[in-house]
Amino acid sequence: MIIDIHGHYTTAPRALEAWRKRQIDALGDPAAAPRAGELSISDDELRETIEANQLKKMDERGIDLTIFSPRASFMAHHIGDFATSAVWSAICNELCHRVACLYPDRFAGAAMLPQSPGADPRTCVPELERCVKEYGFVAVNLSPDPSGGHWTAPPLHDRSWYPVYEKLVEFGIPAMIHVSSSCNPCFHTTGAHYLNADTTAFMQCLTSDLFADFPTLRFVIPHGGGAVPYHWGRFRGLAQELGKPPLREHLLRNIFFDTCVYHQPGIDLLTRVIPVDNVLFASEMIGAVRGIDPETGFAYDDTRRYIEAAPHLGPGDRHKIYEGNARRVYPRLDALLSSRRRPA
Ligand SMILES: [Zn+2]
Repeated sequence: MIIDIHGHYTTAPRALEAWRKRQIDALGDPAAAPRAGELSISDDELRETIEANQLKKMDERGIDLTIFSPRASFMAHHIGDFATSAVWSAICNELCHRVACLYPDRFAGAAMLPQSPGADPRTCVPELERCVKEYGFVAVNLSPDPSGGHWTAPPLHDRSWYPVYEKLVEFGIPAMIHVSSSCNPCFHTTGAHYLNADTTAFMQCLTSDLFADFPTLRFVIPHGGGAVPYHWGRFRGLAQELGKPPLREHLLRNIFFDTCVYHQPGIDLLTRVIPVDNVLFASEMIGAVRGIDPETGFAYDDTRRYIEAAPHLGPGDRHKIYEGNARRVYPRLDALLSSRRRPA
């Protein structure tokens, strides 16, 4: 199987965006806020947006299944307060759930959380619980910076995050550490903020002993780990100076990187530097970079080509990257896939 662990519903019907605009316009006047029930999207509309986009590309590229979460840049936790995020998260998660129900062999859901600047992360637990228990979601996206580029939240090792981690461990689901749009003009959302956050999250874990407290907690750091693989020597050296164990021991039992790196040399570096057991196939297709690379003639985000062409990877390595690691890191996905296998 080829499992893409990083897909977002970037092509959701326009009505979703229109509803969100009404929600934002009503921020100063709660009485004018739209109710969740006022958003009406039919199954046919969902099918149209999926079949012409994600599913089409998955078929073209030979991707069997995508772990599918709400559009990351639209999470925009910095808008409004917890109540704003709670309604918005519930709506977006439900749409991903409906897509997974329409195409149960092709999509598995992952949740966005109703985070909000200054709100106790504990407030996200009920939505997390709902998405796992009611929807059968296999992962969540957790933003280390709900402020949208101002970094006002405590680092990921702060104990205020622990109630979320306790729930993740209890359910056996990983968190993809994923920020949303930047409202700080210094940081371009997908070109700077995302990659900064990936690097920052890794360093927050490095300086702490978070995984001593949560030995089975798993984080997936997307976009190839930001600057981490490229600067692996720096991180190893910093860990050494801080008296931490070697990174393989300190972090690589718990931290995994995806392959959303949009050129061959980048994938080659990622898969040479980071142990293959810690690399998960992903494309984040129809996302940040949607164009065709004139140097190759193929879409930048067609990451399967790079994995196929990486000269040092053997069939066993590719199997781990495409399927094996995902089934280990996302045990609820593994259970879902195993339960579908018909008895002989
Ligand atoms: Zn993403």
